[in-house]
Amino acid sequence: MKCEVVVDECTLNCFQICQRQVREACDALGLGAAAYEVLKQPSRVMEVAVPVVMDDGTVQSFVGWRSQHNDALGPFKGGLRFHPEVTVDEVKALSMWMTFKCAVLGLPYGGGKGGVRCDPRRLSCGELERLSRGLMRALAPIVGPERDIPAPDVYTNPQIMAWMVDEFSRLRDHNSFGVMTGKPLLIGGSAGRNEATGRGCVYACLEAMKQLGIPVEGARVAVQGFGNAGSVAARLFHERGARVVAVGDSCGSIFQSCGMDPAAVADHKCRTGTVGGFPAATPVTAEQLLQTECEVLIPAAMENQLTARIAGGVRARIVGEAANGPTTPEADQILFERGILVLPDILASAGGVTVSYFEWAQNLSGYYWSEEEVNEKLEMAMVRAFHNVYGMARDRKLPMRSAAFMVAVKRVADAMRVRGWLGPAAG
Ligand code: GLU
Repeated sequence: MKCEVVVDECTLNCFQICQRQVREACDALGLGAAAYEVLKQPSRVMEVAVPVVMDDGTVQSFVGWRSQHNDALGPFKGGLRFHPEVTVDEVKALSMWMTFKCAVLGLPYGGGKGGVRCDPRRLSCGELERLSRGLMRALAPIVGPERDIPAPDVYTNPQIMAWMVDEFSRLRDHNSFGVMTGKPLLIGGSAGRNEATGRGCVYACLEAMKQLGIPVEGARVAVQGFGNAGSVAARLFHERGARVVAVGDSCGSIFQSCGMDPAAVADHKCRTGTVGGFPAATPVTAEQLLQTECEVLIPAAMENQLTARIAGGVRARIVGEAANGPTTPEADQILFERGILVLPDILASAGGVTVSYFEWAQNLSGYYWSEEEVNEKLEMAMVRAFHNVYGMARDRKLPMRSAAFMVAVKRVADAMRVRGWLGPAAG
């Protein structure tokens, strides 16, 4: 099957983009040089090579990284991705974004991220288990419920979290469920965690729609990426009466002006491996999907999808970033000038880590909440964070991303200052 990707025309890599975002926020906040000096790179990056005995008896070493950016506000927190093209710079950038994502939501966490270069779709279940357990043995010295708490990310899932928790618990000789989040319910997972990223993004978009006076009933929604976040966002919008007019994944994109039932699309994807070819929908290119005329566009796939070339033709009123880093800085500027409200990743994709925090809190207290309770708390957290950022953006006439970075960088810098990391306190 030929897979479509939007070509990345961005000149900076994710890490450089992230550094620029932090530098701009530090400057706008009038912080001294010390804050940027600490925040401009991760405090630790561990490289690992995990040898795995493959089913055919050969041994293959998989290279990976765990980047711990900053823990001024609490333990490092962030996902682990298994992807054939993951790079150390990508992992470093993603760990930085996690610091600010947690800070925007006011979570007591710093930021971390991990990645292993592998294609999990080509590994057998046994190979995947041995890789996950080997990875945990390699990471064990630097993770733990009070140190660094990994979670699912691209192509990792609750089963992988379960193997890793089990391996860590064996190494420590006691159950330590709080070392990972995104676990299966039976071993300390939280109700609502699987859906949390998509759900959180929808809560942020609904709040933005209220501000712009866009009714949800009949609103047209386009979703790029039909994985964990995108498919949930599509379903929740559909349940609220919105019309899901376009969806796409890495192998195909489709359009249907009267709207599609995301559950039927999910069934089709389950059977065929892609949303492409869904009956009664028109095939479109990845680029056309991003330029669909709609009220809400949700990029829920990979980084650097909305590029400058595409941004000029985006016909959405709101872009809700469920993915990490889907919009290039050049595209961001174009969308801002065109009056399109972009809900940045560090806000709109924060539902997952927010419910990870709830999961961790439940693990530490041993008291578990209902799904309604989790969703209610998630909604409150997303709405509060949205208004903090929206207020800052409106007052200072800034793009939402700049405002979100300012809210986040200020929190982290204040924590660093009070901890004495930035030198003697002035005044
Ligand atoms: N991988 C998710 C993210 O990028 C969730 C991280 C977490 O739950 O720690 O936000």
